[in-house]
Amino acid sequence: MPRLSEYLLPTEKQPPADAEALSHVLMVRAGLIRQMGAGMWSWLPAGWRTHQRAVAIIREEMDAIGGQEMLMPVLQPAEPWRKTGRLDIEELFKLHDRKGSELVLAMTHEEAVTFHVAQLVRSYRDLPLILYHFQVKERDEPRPRAGVLRTREFIMKDSYTFDRDQAGLEERYELHVGAYDRIMQRTGLRFYRVESDVGMMGGLGAHEYMAPCPAGEDEIALAPGYAANLEVALRSPEVSKVGDGYELRGEPLSVQPAIEVGNIFMLGTRYSEPLGASYLDETGQERPVWMGSYGIGPARIVAAAVEQFADERGISWPKALAPFDVHLVAVGSAGTPERDAAERLYEILNASELEVLYDDRDAGPGEKFADAELLGCPLRLTVGRRSLESGAAEVQVRRGLKDIEGLPLDAEPGTLQRLMDELWRSVP
Ligand code: ATP
Ligand code: MG
Repeated sequence: MPRLSEYLLPTEKQPPADAEALSHVLMVRAGLIRQMGAGMWSWLPAGWRTHQRAVAIIREEMDAIGGQEMLMPVLQPAEPWRKTGRLDIEELFKLHDRKGSELVLAMTHEEAVTFHVAQLVRSYRDLPLILYHFQVKERDEPRPRAGVLRTREFIMKDSYTFDRDQAGLEERYELHVGAYDRIMQRTGLRFYRVESDVGMMGGLGAHEYMAPCPAGEDEIALAPGYAANLEVALRSPEVSKVGDGYELRGEPLSVQPAIEVGNIFMLGTRYSEPLGASYLDETGQERPVWMGSYGIGPARIVAAAVEQFADERGISWPKALAPFDVHLVAVGSAGTPERDAAERLYEILNASELEVLYDDRDAGPGEKFADAELLGCPLRLTVGRRSLESGAAEVQVRRGLKDIEGLPLDAEPGTLQRLMDELWRSVP
């Protein structure tokens, strides 16, 4: 695990000039992301770790419902998009190659996956299927904003289900509801699953996974036991306007900004028909394949977590998404006994399951603590002269900046690792 003296973590005291959203400010200040152009962002090493932790959770839950991971290209022929009527979408980047062929940069992958299924699925025995990938999406967003919350290029996990009929689609859809609920719970985000408009995708039914946060561009309506996209809520016969507010069955309805982190759709035969994805049933009759489409954005999960849990000192990661579990701060310069004690603790923790970032820089304690608070790893350990006197490394839980019982410095490695493990499990 990295030593900060050798690691690219360019923290900043000042917010970027054009930043409004909290996650934009904090992720840049903490050295997680850097901008290259409007809606074009790079993930720096610590930021990429958080992104990939979200990816790992999503992958596990997709595999658990029988998803088969694959990879489809971003650069695609325009033809399937013409067939589905989506070539004219303004967000779609279009280009030509040197021979003049029309190409697009995919903003989603219904066309690609259905193109393949049309060739590869023949009979009812080939169904059902759950196919997914993590792939870059390109979108000419009208207004890229808020750091990595709305970019023109981002990674999405998109899965697609293929069934014989509507009942099969509903089954595959329910599997996704379960997987998405578990993904969201495991990330530690506060979230709501709400019914959504079917929108540009077309289809039979859809839900959105919404994370309430200040920079959210959507609005959700909440009442005890009720959560809905505001537009959907306003159309519901159960919702009525009373004075300035709304009410649901007599209960006050609150409206909160939220960001959509995931989106699931029952598509039906919207794409299979124009692209010719059909199968032969038991009686030899040709039928269209029933499809579903399911997206989720790791970048939005990460940025929403930053927004939801930040305090005035910086980020406070949920355990599942933190770039590192433990931020170990050495106070005191090289060659001192306190530095030796910090080095020993670092070596021991490195051999454990925990991921440790070790601040071994020649910098003052003020700067080191400020960076640790900004980066927001769940636990901070400090080893300085004071720790040698007390015999224990100081331990602080980032969320709430709560000091808890120290870690004995002279304990055997095995004991230290066990204590550390217990400590880790006790962090909420
Ligand atoms: P929005 O309404 O916010 O534009 P969308 O409906 O276009 O979202 P989908 O096409 O359903 O989004 O994409 C699925 C997921 O991909 C979203 O839930 C989100 O997590 C992510 N996503 C979509 N657009 C962006 C973007 N511009 N930048 C980052 N992530 C995005
Ligand atoms: Mg969009």
